[in-house]
Order: sequence, then structure tokens, then C-alpha cells
Amino acid sequence: MSQAKKLDDPSSLLSNIDVFIFDCDGVIWRGDTLIPGVPSVLDQLRLAGKKIFFVTNNSTKSRVGYKSKFTSLGLDVHPEEIFSSSFAAAAYLEQTNFKQTGKKVYIIGEKGISEELDAIGISWLGGEADKAKQPDMGPGGRVEVDHNVGAVVVGFDRHINYYKLQYAQLCLNELPGCEFIATNLDRVTHLTDAQEWAGNGTMVGAVSGCTGREPTLVGKPAPLMIDYISKKYGITDRSRICMVGDRLDTDIAFGRNNGLKTCLTLSGVTSEDELMDRVPRKKGTEGIQPEFYVETINDFYPAPSD
Ligand code: PLP
Ligand code: CA
Repeated sequence: MSQAKKLDDPSSLLSNIDVFIFDCDGVIWRGDTLIPGVPSVLDQLRLAGKKIFFVTNNSTKSRVGYKSKFTSLGLDVHPEEIFSSSFAAAAYLEQTNFKQTGKKVYIIGEKGISEELDAIGISWLGGEADKAKQPDMGPGGRVEVDHNVGAVVVGFDRHINYYKLQYAQLCLNELPGCEFIATNLDRVTHLTDAQEWAGNGTMVGAVSGCTGREPTLVGKPAPLMIDYISKKYGITDRSRICMVGDRLDTDIAFGRNNGLKTCLTLSGVTSEDELMDRVPRKKGTEGIQPEFYVETINDFYPAPSD
């Protein structure tokens, strides 16, 4: 695969692309701080008639939660432009007619997932408010799970504990046909700029560890979100979609695996040295190359030089 090119002249990219899909953390914001210049770039893309979507692997918020975050950062974004991995989990269940089974979902994860399930009328248990203490045991030390659980969704959960894992283990190992769905598999994440934090790969890995099962992945790099967007908006030519992200194993792999153009931003977790293989790459990112890279998305509309 040829090495990524620095986007020195954005005009050909802009004329060949109709749809921009932006990853959020590292591209639009870092944590709770807007990346300077982003509002103006989004305005200019919209003025140029481009369609814009935002695709994030962070499942802790729902579309409605992200709408509030965009608004708090001064960005006017429609909820239907936002595709979080929490939304993707709900979309997967909707596509597979889960609701019609009358079953419930057991959630390991924060309120993004439960809010998305509420929005489509799927019953759930567990989730953010569940403190999951040692359960009451029946004869011989048996714990009974709700026999109506038909799927376990695992997303990022800062309150995960042994009893939540045990509940998920019982659902997946004891209930026939119970599905295992992962919002995303990010090994580490950047809750603060100072260091990496254990990501949702931790939670999913724990559930895989006690069940021996691999999950159905709905977040990047899995195709679900791009398939959903293409179908809903009738986008047939994927070569006219550009995925813009800061992470090689999620964003750029998502674009490359699914026939999109790809552009890496250096405003997040990947350095130019890493991209150019001048220093060792992070595990799992070996050989993944975007077509283009930019410092930040401001490079799509460079300020005229004097
Ligand atoms: N998961 C969690 C818990 C996060 O905090 C983040 C980034 O903030 C991500 C995943 C990755 O999000 P994105 O796909 O927007 O980079
Ligand atoms: Ca990112």
C-alpha cells in the first residue's frame, strides 16, 4: 500500500468528494475542548453543498447526548447527522428485528446505550445505574438471570464490576440464542491528554474471556454505520465519501475496508512519525495507510497567504 500523502492542495479532494464523515474525538474536539477552526470548516463544507456526518466509537452518550455536546461547543449539528456506537448497537437490534422477539437487552455500559434502546422501545436491564452487588443466591448458590434476556450489549463502563460480568456470563452461557454485541473494541482511549486509559476492549475482553465468544461489532471499523448511512441517504458511490479520522485501526480501517476515501488528521492520537513509520506503530495499526493526511481539518480551507 502506498504511503499517505500530505494534502497540499485540497481542491481536488473537495471536488471529488460529496460526503465527509468525521470521527469526533481528535478531529472535532479533544475531550471537552473544541479543536480551533472546526466551526468555520464545517460551515464552508456545508456552503459548498457537502453532506456531513459524525461517527464516534464512544458509546457513553446517545445521539441526544451528543447533540448537547455539539451545542455546548457552539456547533449546530442535527441529531440525524450523528452516529455513535451506542446508536449503532440500537440500529443493529432494529435491523435484526430484535424488538419483535419481545426480549430484553442486558447492558454493560453507560447511559448512551440505554437512551438509544429507550428511543426505539427495546426493554433493557443493567446499565449505568446498576450497582451490581453480590446477588441473592438460590439453593446450592445458583443465581437466576432474567430468562427474557436475548442480547448482551457491551460498551464503555466506568462502573463495571465482577457481578456485572457474572450476569453477562450467565446470559451468554446459559440462555439459548443470547447475542453478544460490542459497541467498539478500542483497546485504549484518551479520557485525558496526559495518558491512555483502558478502552472498551477491556470490557469486551472480559466478557469474551468468560464466555469464549467473539462479539458482533457495530462500531468502527465494522461496516454497520457506513451501510446504514449509505442506505438511508441513497449514497451509491462510496468513492465520493471521505472518512476523516485520527486513528488508524478504527477510522482509517473503517474507510479502507468499506471503499471510502480516507484522510488522517494529526490533531489526535497518531503522530506524523508513526504514520510515516519513523517510529514503531501502536499495536494493531501496522500497515494501515490513509490516502491523505492533514494537520487538522483547517487544512481543507487553508488561509490565503499574503
Ligand atoms: N470510547 C471512549 C470511552 C472514548 O472516551 C473515546 C474518545 O473520547 C472513544 C471511544 C473514541 O471516540 P472517537 O471514535 O470519537 O474517537
Ligand atoms: Ca478519534
